[in-house]
Amino acid sequence: MAGLACARHLADAGQDVIVLDKGRGLGGRLATRRSEYGAFDHGAQYITARNPGFAAWLDQAELASSAAPWQQLGVDRTWWVGTPGMSRIVAPLAEGLDVRKACRVEAVRSNAPGWTVACEGDEIVQADHLAIAIPAPQAATLLAGVTPLADGLDVVRYAPCWTLMVALAEPLETAPRVYRASDGPCAWIACDSSKPGRAADGENWVIQAGPGWSEIHLEDSSDTVSRLLHDAFESWAGALPDIRSSQVHRWRYARVLKALDAPCLWDGEAGIGLAGDWCLGPRVEAAYLSGRALAGRMLATQSR
Ligand SMILES: Cc1cc2nc3c(=O)[nH]c(=O)nc-3n(C[C@H](O)[C@H](O)[C@H](O)COP(=O)(O)OP(=O)(O)OC[C@H]3O[C@@H](n4cnc5c(N)ncnc54)[C@H](O)[C@@H]3O)c2cc1C
Repeated sequence: MAGLACARHLADAGQDVIVLDKGRGLGGRLATRRSEYGAFDHGAQYITARNPGFAAWLDQAELASSAAPWQQLGVDRTWWVGTPGMSRIVAPLAEGLDVRKACRVEAVRSNAPGWTVACEGDEIVQADHLAIAIPAPQAATLLAGVTPLADGLDVVRYAPCWTLMVALAEPLETAPRVYRASDGPCAWIACDSSKPGRAADGENWVIQAGPGWSEIHLEDSSDTVSRLLHDAFESWAGALPDIRSSQVHRWRYARVLKALDAPCLWDGEAGIGLAGDWCLGPRVEAAYLSGRALAGRMLATQSR
């Protein structure tokens, strides 16, 4: 979200932009895992908007059919989801851009002026300016010795998250569609199939462990975590119908616990900057605002 929000803003201002992403699809932690029994949102679950600019952007995404409100009783803010999966919500930002997927950046070198970016598989990209929008610990590794901006990133803290995805042959008739707790193995349980635009003939559920539980079990095997999360889900739901498929995913850097408290980082002399949720807080909205802020700083430097 941060990288594409930045790229979109730059492109709309007439700049030539190239986006590199190591993922096979776009979205990063706005992630959708496809399976033969339908898709699962295994990263961000829903999006809220506090900032009017971001709220307006979500309205645009709804018009482009890549987002829709997910109605919930008793919540004071609209919950937005991507349609037909969370990863689709970034699609309008990427439209018309030169986006290179499955392109892992392995090294960044200064040519003063300008930059060389080396990707896995020998792809080399030259650029006048660089915007890096990846989690802070990964940025710190990639940019160590490249820019002093990388030196202060260790103040940022993340919580991990273990996620279980279960496809059930039959619906869980009596279970609530969403359950939340502050921590434990089931800090979030949601019927993914109850989100708008999802197609599944059974029911797909996503169970996310809380930050403390995920930290304790961070290095456990997938098999162990899968068993523990299954047991916890079953204690919550009661006896489960036939399970058609089940998988777990570990997010090492899931939600920001401590942010930088600055919209972005930018070195106008060197022409390099950083953005991401970790600049402002643990939400998709923060990533969007950070990416936009970095684009604004880049454009302001150019117009000087
Ligand atoms: C389990 C979970 C649940 C969450 N729930 C919510 C929620 O309900 N609501 C909410 O608002 N937020 C939620 N979040 C947080 C939200 O997903 C993030 O705040 C937001 O998506 C971060 O966006 P970003 O652009 O900063 O980073 P990312 O989404 O991490 O994007 C970074 C991008 O950089 C790419 N990348 C990384 N390294 C390289 C490299 N070397 N070369 C090339 N590309 C690279 C990645 O592929 C990725 O696309 C959740 C996150 C997780 C993991």
